[in-house]
Amino acid sequence: MKEKLETLFINNQKWNKLLNMTALNGDKYFREKHYLDLIKKYMPKEDSVEIFKELLEKKMFKRKFSYECDDDIYDAELLEKKCEICGLKVIEHEYFELYSPSYLSELSKNNIQLIKDYYDSDSKIVMEDVRSNIDRVIPFVGSGISKNVGMPLWLELFKKAKDKISDEYKPYFDLEYESKNIDKIIEMVKRVHPLIQDDKDLKKEIIAPEIKKTIPNEILLNSIIPDILKLDAEYIITTNYDDLLEKTSLLLCSGYEESRDISSFQGFESLDETQYIFHIHGTIKNYDSMVVTNEDYNNLYDSEEKKRILSGLINKHSMLFLGFSMDDTYFSDEFGKICESNKGYCTNYYVMINGDRQKKDELLKTTNVRFINIKSTNFDIKNQYEFMIEYILGNIYIE
Ligand SMILES: [Zn+2]
Repeated sequence: MKEKLETLFINNQKWNKLLNMTALNGDKYFREKHYLDLIKKYMPKEDSVEIFKELLEKKMFKRKFSYECDDDIYDAELLEKKCEICGLKVIEHEYFELYSPSYLSELSKNNIQLIKDYYDSDSKIVMEDVRSNIDRVIPFVGSGISKNVGMPLWLELFKKAKDKISDEYKPYFDLEYESKNIDKIIEMVKRVHPLIQDDKDLKKEIIAPEIKKTIPNEILLNSIIPDILKLDAEYIITTNYDDLLEKTSLLLCSGYEESRDISSFQGFESLDETQYIFHIHGTIKNYDSMVVTNEDYNNLYDSEEKKRILSGLINKHSMLFLGFSMDDTYFSDEFGKICESNKGYCTNYYVMINGDRQKKDELLKTTNVRFINIKSTNFDIKNQYEFMIEYILGNIYIE
């Protein structure tokens, strides 16, 4: 019966963080206040005294007594026990209660099982590699992360263009769209869309309305974004035009409220001590900064000044790619360039979902990358991401 209750608690997302953080001290004993503080920190919406009481009732803690006799401190399991020093009962001394978690091996077993269920077999060792490099890790965030809260994926941005082009062109649009060739899609849109003549129109009429959609705070806070912010890196790089990372950071006071892009970059010196989000493809706030077409893209990697800024951001750091799709050929070019540029200094990491380790070798133009592969199953992807970040941060208890 006891074991069943423990399993129930351990598998409950609400409790899981607290149970892991409590377990990380192993079987050391602490006073009640230690646990109340942890509950306040990890379950801030709950009444900490009530939660602690519940844990005690469910026999999640072992208890012992610490008492003072003859200026020394002794331990006892029971208050009725006789003191070996003076012969009086423990209860007749000055004493206090100490607690230690009793669910350690259950939790450990459960965590090991989760790693097996959530990720493919090579991922654990890669996550541990990320952990050992954590001081150099920079999250590199793609459109999959924004998609998770209801934003369109990179290619999907252009889907809406179809609504306003006349029927005779729609089949051609579909053909180009299926090819996934962004340049051809853009060319097509510019040719046949009545409101779009140039790149600026494209950004204003097609991209901006999609990116400026308001995402409710509740959705942001329950997304993967807070987990990315938790890595507490010096900065975060993103290819996204939206400011969802900044917005979520503001809600959580995590310190990443500053947006930067190549055109507004003031140099690395001015950024000491400030955490910021670097939009490598620009932001919606500044249409000129946005990298959309192949021309913009070539311009980004051709200019010496821009290259200098990019290499300053990437070299000597390990990129942790999140929310990118291997099928996005547009990205895989850039991905190869980035991974090659810090070769010799650092290894990069790529988090893929249900990826094909075989296929990825054909697609990627670099060897300077290791893979974490999230198995897409019946689990909630948010839990899988969260667990991965917590594991990287060393917050998951394993015996
Ligand atoms: Zn005594």
